[in-house]
Amino acid sequence: METMKQYIEEAEKALLHTYNRYQIVLDKGEGVWLYDIEGKRYLDFCAGIAVFALGYHNRKYNDALKAQIDKLIHTSNYYYNVPAIEAARKIKEVSGMDRVFFTNSGAEAVEGAIKAARKYAYLKDGRTDHEIIAMEHSFHGRTMGALSVTGNPAYREAFEPMIGNIRFASLNDFESVKKALTEKTCAIIMETVQGEGGVIPAQESFLKQVKALCQERDILLILDEIQCGMGRTGAMFAWQHYGVKPDIMTTAKALGCGIPVGAFLMTEKVGANSLTSGDHGTTYGGNPLAAAAINIVLDLFAENHIIDNVKETGAYLERKLDELAAEYDCIEGRRGRGMLQGLVFSRPVNGVIQKALEKGLILINAGANVIRFVPPLIITREHVDEMAEILKSCLDEME
Ligand SMILES: *Cc1c(COP(=O)(O)O)cnc(C)c1O
Repeated sequence: METMKQYIEEAEKALLHTYNRYQIVLDKGEGVWLYDIEGKRYLDFCAGIAVFALGYHNRKYNDALKAQIDKLIHTSNYYYNVPAIEAARKIKEVSGMDRVFFTNSGAEAVEGAIKAARKYAYLKDGRTDHEIIAMEHSFHGRTMGALSVTGNPAYREAFEPMIGNIRFASLNDFESVKKALTEKTCAIIMETVQGEGGVIPAQESFLKQVKALCQERDILLILDEIQCGMGRTGAMFAWQHYGVKPDIMTTAKALGCGIPVGAFLMTEKVGANSLTSGDHGTTYGGNPLAAAAINIVLDLFAENHIIDNVKETGAYLERKLDELAAEYDCIEGRRGRGMLQGLVFSRPVNGVIQKALEKGLILINAGANVIRFVPPLIITREHVDEMAEILKSCLDEME
């Protein structure tokens, strides 16, 4: 068998170098644990970037996918298939939205949301110069449309020109939104809790002000719930904490728990007045295998009381992180909600993350100075304690 080092050398010759990967080759998972190909075990507080909510090697999830593989994997969207119809019913139930379009990824869900918003505005006045307001420090994906509304200039620069007519405002600064507003504004897009940008929740008052503005002017509110949705903050979708319902919502990441699938959803008002036949499509989106993943994920969320665990164990995680923040001078504070948490450091965190990995704990950052905690949603207090112990020992060694 090749060693980890040999595999990594081979990977670096063949894969496009768009990631500075951690130097481990992962092999298998069990619950909240991952194993590399040399058998070393890791406590996983990354969950494939907020994806694997149910934990690895979940028997019922695996069996449901295997059954669907043996039945039918793909049909195209020229025909109906039962798993997609069921998935649409279930996602409507948990979101309260009316219409859904399934995609293969988060970025594609954002692309679809942007197209729906532009079409909605176009049908109203026939113009093609509508503007979208997006937030600084936001992250919406790497395709050209999603990148255009991503508030990180370094990600965009080399790929200009963007799709155009995007204006940026600051999250939680309503005045900045009003400043960016023009006659041509057709939509405002934001993450309900910014993930990649440093784990920054939108404040309730801000969300409500933006929503009121949108209603007053018939502007569409697009909430990107790709990272903060699917139970991660202690509600199925983070906006449900505040009752600020979007006109269009995106979801992905934990929606399929590892099978690549996303969705954008909308209210009936937008559904009936935006994209129609010929306007949008996808070969794979919502195929029977992807839809089967959504179905079993939503079933297991209910059966295993996942959201109750996020509320309880998420509160415990929050307490533990607050304790760490109080104990260590290098930690400035904690941000986040439920099991989407960030510890803000006064210095870059990559050294700590590297040391934690050596000690068998997988953590990720969100920006240079923030450690992000996005564990599988099935973690227990014992896992939180173990994580905190390892993190403390890393910080102690680095003091
Ligand atoms: C990850 C993410 C995306 C992009 O999803 P991909 O599946 O990587 O394309 C978009 N928005 C948010 C908030 C995300 O966290």
